[in-house]
Amino acid sequence: MVAMGGGGDEEVEEYLFKVVIIGDSAVGKSNLLSRYARNEFNLHSKATIGVEFQTQSMDIDGKEVKAQIWDTAGQDRFRAVTSAYYRGAFGALVVYDVSRRSTFDSVARWLDELNTHSDTTVAKMLVGNKCDLSSIREVSVEEGTRLAEAEGLFFIETSALDSTNVKTAFEIVIKEIYNNVSRKVL
Ligand code: GDP
Ligand code: MG
Repeated sequence: MVAMGGGGDEEVEEYLFKVVIIGDSAVGKSNLLSRYARNEFNLHSKATIGVEFQTQSMDIDGKEVKAQIWDTAGQDRFRAVTSAYYRGAFGALVVYDVSRRSTFDSVARWLDELNTHSDTTVAKMLVGNKCDLSSIREVSVEEGTRLAEAEGLFFIETSALDSTNVKTAFEIVIKEIYNNVSRKVL
């Protein structure tokens, strides 16, 4: 999705990309998004209802690049989200909880679903969230790294609670999308 917007004398290039967040229930998807978009964290957040996406801008090469970041709106509870959710997505954050191994074991299934439904090249980031819970960690950094390498994904550990790497996680994905699209245009 590349849109050209006129701004008086100068042509302002604007980009808008859809990014989806997927992963098991309660891994912290909604909190990663609220931390990134509004710098907010909820200790007792309920299943996401209502808000389906947040739009966030960043500057790359002097261009305004906007990401429309979609949250599953509670559909993750049914282990599968609808194909409409994935449609047009250029980037994805596949999230697990480092303190719950079952959520790491689910990553392969989420990737399958993403690959089945995606209609373009998708920049993918494997995200091990809740890295602040080091005392009850069940998945090591090495395991995350290995899986990401095997699947050709970027990898990062985050904490929506203390903000570790949250901005970086989203920005790496958005930059990669921008690079993918620029490469295609040139
Ligand atoms: P979602 O179902 O994947 O959207 O998960 P939520 O964002 O609703 O978070 C589920 C629970 O995990 C909530 O109680 C959050 O407070 C908690 N949580 C989310 N991110 C973190 C984190 O980075 N660290 C810790 N310790 N708890 C988190
Ligand atoms: Mg949620």
